Amino acid sequence: MNSPRTFHVKSFGCQMNVYDGARMAELLEAEGLAAAPDAGAADLVVLNTCHIREKAAEKVYSDIGRLKREDGSRPMIAVAGCVAQAEGAEIPRRAPSVDIVVGPQAYHRLPEMVASAARGERALDTDMPVQSKFGALPARRRQGPTAFLTVQEGCDKFCTYCVVPYTRGAEISRPWAAIVDEARALIDMGAREITLLGQNVNAWQGEDDKGHAQGLDGLIRALDALPGLARIRYTTSHPNDMTEGLIRAHGDVEKLMPFLHLPVQSGSDRILKAMNRSHSTASYLAVIERVRAARPDIAISGDFIVGFPGETQAEFQDTLEIVRAVNYAQAYSFKYSPRPGTPAAEMSDQIAPEVMDERLQRLQALLTEQQLRFNRASVGKRTTVLLERKGKRPGQLIGKSPWLQSVHLETDAAIGDLVDVDILSAGPNSLGGAPLMEQAA
Ligand code: SAM
Ligand code: SF4
Repeated sequence: MNSPRTFHVKSFGCQMNVYDGARMAELLEAEGLAAAPDAGAADLVVLNTCHIREKAAEKVYSDIGRLKREDGSRPMIAVAGCVAQAEGAEIPRRAPSVDIVVGPQAYHRLPEMVASAARGERALDTDMPVQSKFGALPARRRQGPTAFLTVQEGCDKFCTYCVVPYTRGAEISRPWAAIVDEARALIDMGAREITLLGQNVNAWQGEDDKGHAQGLDGLIRALDALPGLARIRYTTSHPNDMTEGLIRAHGDVEKLMPFLHLPVQSGSDRILKAMNRSHSTASYLAVIERVRAARPDIAISGDFIVGFPGETQAEFQDTLEIVRAVNYAQAYSFKYSPRPGTPAAEMSDQIAPEVMDERLQRLQALLTEQQLRFNRASVGKRTTVLLERKGKRPGQLIGKSPWLQSVHLETDAAIGDLVDVDILSAGPNSLGGAPLMEQAA
């Protein structure tokens, strides 16, 4: 196989994968490869995979099959991400056309692996080296108005349903200086909003440049001081790591957006215990209350799993109850998916798929209703929108409100601008608005 000259990275799953995908693209560009618009036009295709649920993992194999071209040829294929980590050498056994298998902690080695594959040697690396990959990655390159910045990786919490501690490894926090430098570089390249990422981002800890111990709130305050940055977000958080300092930051750091993604998973204390979540419904609700006291207009988002082994109808009702108690602005909900190697996959009382389907539908109906109500409450209000991309209609741009709602508007302003907008309409997934100047005219 020839050395590839063009590449395409396709990322699935969480925002951290989107970040890793961007870093892999930068790495390949630094090696002189050019980005191709799609997989069909690329000499090298990187499938940056997700293993969190069965559907996501199985999709990889059908995607590999689809890379075969009409003339029988195929690109060089690299499988990266959490499926690569979890399945390793099993991937080329099942899909022999795969040339490279690289785990999430080893992708800084991608260029040498591409060189091996070009020599006809299959390359596999799922090591989790003590030395972090970040130091070996090239400087950040391209950037739009919004950017992700991974500050924390891995997880030590071992929820009984979850593969993350196995695929992403132990919890590590990137050093303060590396994060602040990367944030500065992103701002210099045009980022107006930075979202700090981590599997448990609020567990981030480190020392600042004076050697003082800091948590995520300290890091947020350091970013708040960077000129040019307008908005800071962070995701995903664990309820047990919502410190007093972080809650206070929501009250007094102006650039910190009023949005908190705080997964609870279930409204039943018995199920939470079986999940090894280490928080209760009461402690979760207490955190929400404190956050709302610090920032009354904060939008709360969450994650839910229905049909965890042994979940009774009454326990599912408890989940609907906590949803009613919190009143979410937005949320993700999933059917429980047994993940090989996790304790919950071995539990005997697995729930029937049709029961899970029915529970998921009921939960999603309630969450959609809450989301629509939250969006409708924005109508008639004036807010600031960060313009992110073009819409479908000529002159239409799409941006985000402080509460992470998509806002569609027609405007002469440019992508990257922050504009004041009157919200005129609301649907379940987006808002419609008009910029202030046009209204005055
Ligand atoms: N660290 C975050 C937390 O603890 O809330 C979540 C990170 S996880 C990558 C994202 C979400 O995937 C979880 O909040 C959970 O709702 C869902 N998830 C994880 N494992 C799952 C499984 N086996 N089946 C269904 N959903 C799952
Ligand atoms: Fe997975 Fe639980 Fe860790 Fe979140 S806290 S990444 S759900 S093990």
